[in-house]
Amino acid sequence: MDTENLTTNQRLMADNYSPLAAVKIEKWRQMRDEGKLFVVGACSDARLILPEMAYHIRTISATGPRSAWHEVLNYSKVQGIVIMDHFDCGGLKAKESISGKEVAEEGALEYVRDHVWATDPVKQSILTASWTASRTHLPVLAVVQDHHDGSLYIQGAFKNSDQIEYKTIPTYLLTEKELKEDIYKNGRPQLREELVPSVFSPGRKEVTDRALALINSSAGFADSQSIQDPEFVSITDELKPAIVRFPHLFGNPNTLFQVSLSTRMLNEADLDNKDVNDAFGQMHYPISHCIENQGQSFSAFQNTRVLYIETAKMEVSRRLATLLMRKSWVKDWLGLPGREIVVAEIVAGRIQEIDRAA
Ligand SMILES: [Zn+2]
Repeated sequence: MDTENLTTNQRLMADNYSPLAAVKIEKWRQMRDEGKLFVVGACSDARLILPEMAYHIRTISATGPRSAWHEVLNYSKVQGIVIMDHFDCGGLKAKESISGKEVAEEGALEYVRDHVWATDPVKQSILTASWTASRTHLPVLAVVQDHHDGSLYIQGAFKNSDQIEYKTIPTYLLTEKELKEDIYKNGRPQLREELVPSVFSPGRKEVTDRALALINSSAGFADSQSIQDPEFVSITDELKPAIVRFPHLFGNPNTLFQVSLSTRMLNEADLDNKDVNDAFGQMHYPISHCIENQGQSFSAFQNTRVLYIETAKMEVSRRLATLLMRKSWVKDWLGLPGREIVVAEIVAGRIQEIDRAA
């Protein structure tokens, strides 16, 4: 697709209505109807490689599909739930940096303080998966990805109804006091293969195959994954993966940092609530890094240029943009050259209306 002279809105539209998107959306719907999808709760980090045939819920450090997503966690026609954290996660590092300190400011650190449970991805994935398993009848898998090569390290398998709880590290190591040396004394933990429910095999294979294809197609792939610097950051209430709906723009890793927000129960009048505040706190993470890292070489988010808000109602998307534009950090970011906020209404994976808000 030749996108050189298109506006951001036109690029999003062209991709969303491309033949490839049509094929992927159709395949996704078919898999959904056959009950073959997974629910993936993964870190917002743009570099993660996730299965396409899944519902995606993205939060910083995979802080867990919360009450807003209770319904999707209990769909009878999904295979299971995957909680995906990753090594070298910025959210977990932020948690470590604030340990024992007061967090006064509103924004990313406030979100991390209140929602991230551990400073280590093995612990964070196990804690979140076990917590999620207590709220669903579905099997839940705890996974940590190495985003440099897409490799997956399974940390736990849980199914409350069958009283299954397998994990790589014993419960006493899950307390915050334990040292990382205890967890990694034999290298990165990996759950024994015979304990991993086979229902998760197709999703694992999809990720492994795609990672291999990326590594084979680009010699510098691992290097390109060392710093998170996507052009787009997004707040979305759409559970269909962005890679399915925008396969050209977001087909490769490191192209989109995504925060999920459930707006199903929301009208434009009642958007001043805790879930919205949490989404804004998470969005503060890439935007503040972008501002801080201007003029540095090879720094996180320095080329992040588009804040894309998509929900099922145009008024809700517009209202979210208006609330965001009152924040000083958003004003500062919009002051940088070429930055823009795009809002859209998206229904069944397709853009119905799109506009530039700033
Ligand atoms: Zn992360």
